[in-house]
Amino acid sequence: MTRTAEPRPPADRPAAPSLPGGPPTAPVDPTALPVAPTPLVWRRLRRAGRDHGPLLLLVVVLYALATGAALVAPWVLGMIIDAVRDGAAPARVDVMALAIVAALLVNAALLLAAVAQSIRFGEGLLAELREEFVRSVLRLPLGAVERAGTGDLVSRTGRDVNSLSVMVRESLPVFATGGATVLVILVAQVFLHPALALAWLPSALIIWVSTRWYARRAPEGYLAEMGTYSRLTQGVSDTVEGAHTLEALGRQEWQDLRTDADVRRAYLAERYTLWLRTVWYPPLEFSYMFTSATTFLVAGFLYVQGELSLGQIATAVFLTVQMSRPLEHLIDQIDNVMVGFTGMRRLLGVQGTEETPGTGAEPETGEPGAVAVEGVRFGYAPGTEVLRGVDLDLRPGERLAMVGPSGAGKSTLGKLLAGVYLPGAGTVRVGGVDLAALSPEERRERVILLSQESHVFRGTLAENLALALEDDGADRERLWRALEAVDAATWVRSLPEGLDTRVGSGQDALDPAHVQQLALARVVLADPQVLVLDEATSMIDPRSARRLEGSLAGVLAGRTVVAIAHRLYTAHDADRVAVVDGGEIVELGTHDELLARGGSYAELWNAWHGEG
Ligand code: ATP
Repeated sequence: MTRTAEPRPPADRPAAPSLPGGPPTAPVDPTALPVAPTPLVWRRLRRAGRDHGPLLLLVVVLYALATGAALVAPWVLGMIIDAVRDGAAPARVDVMALAIVAALLVNAALLLAAVAQSIRFGEGLLAELREEFVRSVLRLPLGAVERAGTGDLVSRTGRDVNSLSVMVRESLPVFATGGATVLVILVAQVFLHPALALAWLPSALIIWVSTRWYARRAPEGYLAEMGTYSRLTQGVSDTVEGAHTLEALGRQEWQDLRTDADVRRAYLAERYTLWLRTVWYPPLEFSYMFTSATTFLVAGFLYVQGELSLGQIATAVFLTVQMSRPLEHLIDQIDNVMVGFTGMRRLLGVQGTEETPGTGAEPETGEPGAVAVEGVRFGYAPGTEVLRGVDLDLRPGERLAMVGPSGAGKSTLGKLLAGVYLPGAGTVRVGGVDLAALSPEERRERVILLSQESHVFRGTLAENLALALEDDGADRERLWRALEAVDAATWVRSLPEGLDTRVGSGQDALDPAHVQQLALARVVLADPQVLVLDEATSMIDPRSARRLEGSLAGVLAGRTVVAIAHRLYTAHDADRVAVVDGGEIVELGTHDELLARGGSYAELWNAWHGEG
């Protein structure tokens, strides 16, 4: 049985953050799922750019044209000033004013088209990233999910995907408009007079220095912030799942304290990133306003030198003023972009955890169902070995019972036999093939691990059973045969809607014994070469469980079965028994042989038999 460490009560109050400085929260949980390095996110974005090149080009061109059209107004206004000063005819001024109106209409139409196309681009990219993420999640090794806890994964699938969609849907168009505006205005000013570019230099320097300061701190800050959300989600999920236990033990206040501590960590992390923005924004805002002033200064100087007309000065200043709105919007979106970008690092990080596809290079040399464990060592954490050199050979169709004291390593060995974890040293071969060389799918085809915690999915009983089959529309006879094999056909028949009874979340809870029977029926349908049962009948009353194991043995004849059990009749009925103690197999033989040996199995049996 997999166990979780006994939670320690939280510290009264988490330490106060040290602002400014390093991340203000506790370090990101080392067991959390990994986070992709920044270059990987850029690589993925570049790939998106390549894959959707023409559409992206269209978006950029439309934004640039829209910005160009928006520049007609300040440009023509300058011309109007010069024309009025030179005493031009009113009709000419009217034509120029009409040109401004026409340009504004064109700008609105181009902007509409640009936004529509950028939404097309953004939605396409978002759909791709989501699909990639779902694929990665489905391929996650069970071991990684167990280590990280569900909170991290739930937080990534919910919050991070959401923040990514905000970035793609809202922030990218704003960034595109802002970027295009700055670029086009800069080009227009240089066109007006190359020396006007000098007016941008002081602001460029301020932006460069302050952005560097921000960029050095922000990624870690946002990463820590999102890590605290994972922790918070895990805490909430623990509270919901363990509500009855907490209530029974009167530990609600203790759990409240833990949640408070998690909320506070999240608060401190958010405060830190908020602080970073608070320091960074003023220089940004100042610099784009400062550009208007310096433009005025440079343009004035050029006017005195006779290089620019009064109207051209007005155009130059109008142009810089026109930058302020898009830049303000851009600044508003920076937080969303940072959160979205970090979310993407976390989502791509899950891809890095996908199980190795396996080389598939090893030919199937052994008989299907033969298991060979050789010199297997394994520990969950470096420096602590749970399995210390296990050797075990099972012939095809053999039934082995694994017994031993709690914490001896039985479940761990079961997980290694099923390829949930790969050994630190040694090999596990099934059908002669090293499990480490197989893809997750290939491993699951050969070995299935069934623990005592089984899940009932929302849907009908038939759908729950058909999960084990490639073909969803499995014929009902097959489903009934599987149910009969696990002694479940009678109660399913007694239900008014039989196989079409809806179960799972939102429906009446099934009896835990029935849940285990369904899980066993799924295994019968999946028909693997090797089956590892870890307390898979523990919820069923002993008498029925023994009968069930008997009928299951009939159905699974020819399949190798490893049953981890505390009820020793399982050992009595098995072909051989392995006693695991201290991470090693200390006794191996038939029930009678081990009894005759008078070792630890005999002791266990006598104690159990005495109780039973
Ligand atoms: P039981 O009969 O109580 O289920 P077991 O013999 O199956 O016990 P395991 O569950 O394999 O024993 O545990 C062996 C050791 O590994 C124990 O010390 C346990 O605390 C530790 N352990 C088990 N699962 C994990 C895990 N996911 N992370 C860290 N340590 C673990």
